[in-house]
Amino acid sequence: MDLGSTRFLKALLLAVFALLPYCCLAETAPNYSFVHESTTAPPVSYHDYIVVGGGAAGCPLAATLAETTNVLVLERGGSPYRNPGKTDKGNFLLTLLDPSPDSYAQTFITEDGVYNHRARVLGGGSVINVGFYSRAETEFVKESGLDEALVNDAYQWVENKVVFKAPLLQWQTAVRDGLLEAGVLPYNGFTNEHINGTKIGSTIFDMNDHRHSAADLYADPKNIIVYLHATVTKILFTTQTVGSRPRATGVIYEDALGVKHTAYLTNDSKSEIIVSAGAIGSSQLLMLSGIGQRSQLEPLGIKLVMDQPMVGQGMADNTLNGLFIPSPNPVELSLVSAVGISLLVNYIEAGSGLNLAPSFGWISKFLLSILGQVLHAISYLFICVFLVNYIVSHLTFVNFHFGHTK
Ligand SMILES: Cc1cc2nc3c(=O)[nH]c(=O)nc-3n(C[C@H](O)[C@H](O)[C@H](O)COP(=O)(O)OP(=O)(O)OC[C@H]3O[C@@H](n4cnc5c(N)ncnc54)[C@H](O)[C@@H]3O)c2cc1C
Repeated sequence: MDLGSTRFLKALLLAVFALLPYCCLAETAPNYSFVHESTTAPPVSYHDYIVVGGGAAGCPLAATLAETTNVLVLERGGSPYRNPGKTDKGNFLLTLLDPSPDSYAQTFITEDGVYNHRARVLGGGSVINVGFYSRAETEFVKESGLDEALVNDAYQWVENKVVFKAPLLQWQTAVRDGLLEAGVLPYNGFTNEHINGTKIGSTIFDMNDHRHSAADLYADPKNIIVYLHATVTKILFTTQTVGSRPRATGVIYEDALGVKHTAYLTNDSKSEIIVSAGAIGSSQLLMLSGIGQRSQLEPLGIKLVMDQPMVGQGMADNTLNGLFIPSPNPVELSLVSAVGISLLVNYIEAGSGLNLAPSFGWISKFLLSILGQVLHAISYLFICVFLVNYIVSHLTFVNFHFGHTK
């Protein structure tokens, strides 16, 4: 090959590599070009699908829809990538218990005195939770009438992108052995399936203890736009004929400066508004939009769109008994790896080495409320054993909430 053709070949290769990023449709977190602050949103816009709440459900749903159609995601919280170390395993409790106004976790206390948290960030609960990953119970998939092949494809997609085998170090090994000794049998080894007995599961923390979340599941930027700090305040409905079912046509959302924007559905008959704002947020939004119990909405001056007495009713969280064991010596950092799932629908899980020192004041108040007793000496290193009793038998993930009921 002469010098001229070698130069030409090199130039061609350089051009191909330089253009490669522009030819490729996939984008990876955190450098998304389609995520914007809602203050930059137009006053009015039109979309095939509007997803309210970019949480654990909303993100993967929007990413999937965006493969073929035009999608708008409205998320009231900010970006989980703003401060990367904040979501690392070692900062789990500090981030969850951060009481500041822009915290990823919004603290609230229920009317009967239970401390709890709602996610307020793109990625939702998967940015603040314990990160234990499980597939759904086979029975649940069958009873829900879901297409099992599609469900399996979805598992593979999520597992390839954000799921890692949970490490089994000293403390988690002791937890596993303790569970077996206590008779939580059989031992199922490592598995992502939700089955009775003791098992080692998966996590969304990688080997370097960095969290991955539902927000990492976006990829194709061409059909999607995500607005942050976009709080949906109302779903708009029309009724075509007297007595017919109301049809959702759009939403009103507020940006960080309090300016209102309206997003409408296109006229496509398949267009939909998907409310994935969490258990509390979804019911709240429906009620604010006029779908709920007449006797609750009308006294508040909310115009009734549909009398649906069950909206917002029957809320229940998992009851939890937590044992906090102060350790005089440093303990390895671990969140849930070994779990016990008993026939009585009790889940037993444990973490260790979580550093609570920087927010001691807040945490001590918090712990007092949980334990209902004075903790005189709280070491900055904890071994936490959480015995989680599920009262809702169909829940399919190992959940982890601080809280107590009076
Ligand atoms: C402390 C804790 C630990 C947990 N541990 C685990 C675990 O280890 N494994 C597991 O599988 N599950 C765990 N969970 C549960 C899991 O995180 C939730 O089940 C899951 O996140 C629910 O998903 P979702 O999409 O329904 O709601 P979310 O993930 O909460 O998403 C709802 C989103 O909607 C947004 N939103 C709400 N209202 C509006 C509005 N009006 N406008 C715009 N946006 C709005 C919120 O900001 C949020 O981002 C845990 C939960 C908590 C709190």
